Amino acid sequence: MCKSERINVTRSSMPPYEEYIEAIRPLWDTHWITNMGRYHMELENQLKRYLGVPEISLMVNGHMSLEMAIQMMEFNREGGEVITTPYSFISTTHAIVRNGLKPVFCDIKYGDATIDEDRIEELITEKTVAILPVHVYGNVCNVEKIQGIADKYNLKVIYDAAHAFGVRYKNEGIGNWGDASVFSFHATKVFNTIEGGAVTFKEQKYYEKLYNLKNFGIHDEELVVDIGANAKMNEFCAIMGLCNLRHIDTAIQKRKKYYDLYTQELSKVKGIRLLDRNNEADNNYSYFPIVLEEDYICSRNQLYERLKEHNIFCRKYFFPLISESKCYRDLYGNSGLNNAKKISNNVLILPLYEDMETELINKVLKIISE
Ligand SMILES: *Cc1c(COP(=O)(O)O)cnc(C)c1O
Repeated sequence: MCKSERINVTRSSMPPYEEYIEAIRPLWDTHWITNMGRYHMELENQLKRYLGVPEISLMVNGHMSLEMAIQMMEFNREGGEVITTPYSFISTTHAIVRNGLKPVFCDIKYGDATIDEDRIEELITEKTVAILPVHVYGNVCNVEKIQGIADKYNLKVIYDAAHAFGVRYKNEGIGNWGDASVFSFHATKVFNTIEGGAVTFKEQKYYEKLYNLKNFGIHDEELVVDIGANAKMNEFCAIMGLCNLRHIDTAIQKRKKYYDLYTQELSKVKGIRLLDRNNEADNNYSYFPIVLEEDYICSRNQLYERLKEHNIFCRKYFFPLISESKCYRDLYGNSGLNNAKKISNNVLILPLYEDMETELINKVLKIISE
């Protein structure tokens, strides 16, 4: 590891160069490089199997997948409310607002940072149309309780599963819960297609709906059936996905090694809290968040700066809270979000990626424990 090298919190997984170059060669024969080509369809099939879900629709990125998943439900946009978490990437709330709906922020649990299912019911009004929880850091939400609430009040459930690629809960792919789940295949995620994403769902009728929606709502040459967008994944990205998928299990195993090393050493450090994990769900080792408690030797921001002095650039995911970001703070309520505020002010994500060096982990551990 070069001394002056900037270390980021993540580093994109890439297949061997030759493997990708060989894989894209056929595109020069067909010149079919986007619009639901052969590799787009092939990646949908392979991901359906890998994620263990009944249906999937590939998209250009995770954000558009969220927007399309909400749009396909055809909610009444006049004042419709969606209960969601402020402790996520800004995309989650943007997708609600850009669909003409109103986000209603629900607090999270201090233990695992997922939505507090016991606080959802008090936020339901006659305008509520859906619940949009996030499997944050791949920690699964309380999917049974959330479904119970949704059934009782006749609401849809859309999971932001951007962090939960490959996670299984009670031996089933996480995308089987709710009416739809959304994955991100962005370069920074566990599995990437450079940019990409997908919606998974059970009801088959959504497949055609999404197929149209991601292609401007065009059904055939002379028939436009929906007010769609352009959210198609191109063939270069699909092929990157096919290559990365061949190596995904090894990539996750490598992450596990580093994750376990962090866990083992950091559990001994006073004032460092690791988030709870549901032991009926497996881990994809996507992120390594730590929460600094009052008895830690310095503040989150001080630790962040200290690591930065050593050229290690951690991230404050998720700070600020979505409800406190400039574009939303004066628009929607910000009260009763105590756990979210507390975690957001004290969380730090440590570097974790496939081809890390143990030397780097030791350096990070040394800085944290000194
Ligand atoms: C990455 C991410 C998204 C957006 O996905 P993109 O593929 O970057 O558009 C949405 N929600 C969460 C929680 C994410 O981490």
